[in-house]
Amino acid sequence: MANSSLLIYLDGKLVPESEAKISVFDHGLLYGDGCFEGIRIYNGRIFRLTEHLVRLYESARSICLNIPISFQEMEKATLDTVAANQLRDGYIRLVVTRGVGSLGLNPYQCPKASIFIIASGITLYPAEKYETGLSLITCATRRPASAALSPQVKSLNYLNNIMAKIECIQAGCEEGIMLNEQGYVAECTGDNIFILKNGQIYTPTISSGALNGITRMAVMEVIREMGLVVHEVTMTRHDIYTADECFLTGTAAEVIPAVQYDRRPIGDGRPGQTTLQIIAKFKALANSTGTPVPYA
Ligand code: PMP
Repeated sequence: MANSSLLIYLDGKLVPESEAKISVFDHGLLYGDGCFEGIRIYNGRIFRLTEHLVRLYESARSICLNIPISFQEMEKATLDTVAANQLRDGYIRLVVTRGVGSLGLNPYQCPKASIFIIASGITLYPAEKYETGLSLITCATRRPASAALSPQVKSLNYLNNIMAKIECIQAGCEEGIMLNEQGYVAECTGDNIFILKNGQIYTPTISSGALNGITRMAVMEVIREMGLVVHEVTMTRHDIYTADECFLTGTAAEVIPAVQYDRRPIGDGRPGQTTLQIIAKFKALANSTGTPVPYA
């Protein structure tokens, strides 16, 4: 949602969008070397800001990327960017790149990481899909083994997910399920997955190759508050074929039903009652909690 009057945080300053530029020598661009977060603003508050920043700093630490500002300064920069753009509902993209270096992989030749923060909007799926549900396929593209690249690092390397997303779009589906090297369900291209069977809820373990989704964690809290049980398991395609209900979670997607998988109906092929209750409870949580934005 490009808005020409956006103010972008770039390395300590709020600058107009037209001036928010980074170098062609930035290793974030040359090699996808960096990490990022996607965060939501609901009703003038930032949802789970601390959790997102913890994951950002952990991603950075895992790839030996030194974020040049403190956690508190990052928190303030994020809040100030949202306030400067007068956004009460929207989406924040927070990016840390390895910074400018020479041509060649060596990250130690990049003296300073760059930080930019965009506060804008996002629409991932058409509004009617929240009522009718998504169709999923199994992607042939697998999640990388954690020994190759940890799926827990929310890095600027999204080509694996993008290859899988291309498969989904070519198959006429909005999302798809990515398996790990062993063939177990890991997650979707940009969302985590949950199923319901016989009144119990299941989601793949993080070690199956899933990102530790902030929405996933919030939804697990919601499920427990509803008195339901959620299990973190090794999940197979069979489990989804035989599920009663299925839904996906993600910062941009929020909670969305899935009703078809590999052209088979999930349950009765309509969004499940429990899924719809979880969506309503998640909305209520998102609209009533979070870090308040210090608007002028
Ligand atoms: N998995 C992947 C691969 C993602 O990129 C995302 C974020 N879009 C998620 C899961 C969901 O994580 P979160 O709820 O923190 O947005």
